[in-house]
Amino acid sequence: MGAVLNLFKRPAYKGGVEIHGPVRPLSEPITTLAPTDEVVIPLLQHIGAPAKPVVAPGDEVRIGSVIGEPTAFVSTYIHASVAGRVKEITTIRRPGGATIPAVVIETAADQQAEPTGEATDWRELSPEEIRDRVRKAGIVGMGGAGFPTHIKLAPPPDKPIDSVLVNACECEPYLSADSRLVIENPTELVAGLRVAMRAVGAQKGYLAFEADRLDSIQAVRAVIKDASDIEVVVLPSKYPQGSEKHLIKSVLGRTVPLGALPSAVGALVQNVATLIAVFRAVTYGEPVTRRVVTVNGGAVSKPANYLVPIGVPIQALLEASGWREDECVRVVLGGPMMGRTASALSEVVTKTTSGVLALTAAEIGSLETSPCIRCGRCLTACPMGLYPGYIADAGVAGALDAAEKAGALACLECGSCAYSCPGKRPLVQQIREIKFKLQQRQRERKGE
Ligand code: SF4
Ligand code: SF4
Repeated sequence: MGAVLNLFKRPAYKGGVEIHGPVRPLSEPITTLAPTDEVVIPLLQHIGAPAKPVVAPGDEVRIGSVIGEPTAFVSTYIHASVAGRVKEITTIRRPGGATIPAVVIETAADQQAEPTGEATDWRELSPEEIRDRVRKAGIVGMGGAGFPTHIKLAPPPDKPIDSVLVNACECEPYLSADSRLVIENPTELVAGLRVAMRAVGAQKGYLAFEADRLDSIQAVRAVIKDASDIEVVVLPSKYPQGSEKHLIKSVLGRTVPLGALPSAVGALVQNVATLIAVFRAVTYGEPVTRRVVTVNGGAVSKPANYLVPIGVPIQALLEASGWREDECVRVVLGGPMMGRTASALSEVVTKTTSGVLALTAAEIGSLETSPCIRCGRCLTACPMGLYPGYIADAGVAGALDAAEKAGALACLECGSCAYSCPGKRPLVQQIREIKFKLQQRQRERKGE
């Protein structure tokens, strides 16, 4: 039997918060959402440079046709998520104001996919061949980071990877897309982990779950059986358990130095949806054209997990879930802790959209803030050992040096501090602003 390790023997990290969120809609199977009449597919859904369009208005495409090609080392392919006709190449506005190119496709009645050919046994592929297939499938970190996966699977030669960790914690409340994926696709997930291990030459794989994910744990244990290359690790349900650095600390007992990547300590962390996509890309040549999205919150009557074509507007997901517009005061993309407020209902599902939350006034709580009472709760909650209230004060006062000295740049923007603050201070926004200024100052000093 793949060992389930005793969580109390794991070196837990300090800080973090216990979040008692609403029940996650775990029990219902993933539902496939039909595409809308047209989809808008952004050519930048990842960290790096946008892809360049390789289709023109009037072109016919199938599900999986390449519509965007990478333009730089850190960039990736974009594929059509529906079969249909390219209506236009346009630009859409991103939160923050920048515009990015996007391809609008009118959905055809007949949804044909590009042929994928014979299944390949990944054990017969070299690490280079695995990376090439992952690159051509346009896979990026689907947990929200959006970093191109083929680059993550190519660590520097002087930083060998011995352990690949699967972040199956899904530690934000409301979200359950990954947990449902594990329950429904445990074989593909375990195979995806082994593919990633082969790509980076790691001997050991770990599947890390929060303790309350019993169905998911049971599903993967049934697949792993007595294999010795993979272990299931059960961790306390504590936010932000899924943060890369904290997961590595909890599972391997290794500390990733400030400003360094997990490869500095021989680790690679991948998300559940990403590894399933890796398995499908390597085995069937299947590109990323859809993803599972949790729709939840007090302003929907039917919370659910949907398999959604990329480029479908979030309004379609909300309407499928019985959205009560009059009760909804905020729509959040992602989880409530690290997600962002949607700027419009025309925003579309991308490769990194894990959730769409329709929140009521009661869920948002009071927006009134009160001055700091020096209670220290934010200090206790911060998983990076920072004093968030002090850093935020320094930021508001424009004291850049003081904020830097206090470790502002180490902030993960996890929101544990703001969650704990009795004064409801907008600590994350304030620290994010000071981080932006500090990073700008660093670039100026380097003459960039
Ligand atoms: S200061 Fe940053 S890392 Fe610390 S709790 Fe607040 S958001 Fe999280
Ligand atoms: S939790 Fe809020 S009130 Fe308490 S010390 Fe931190 S910022 Fe001040």
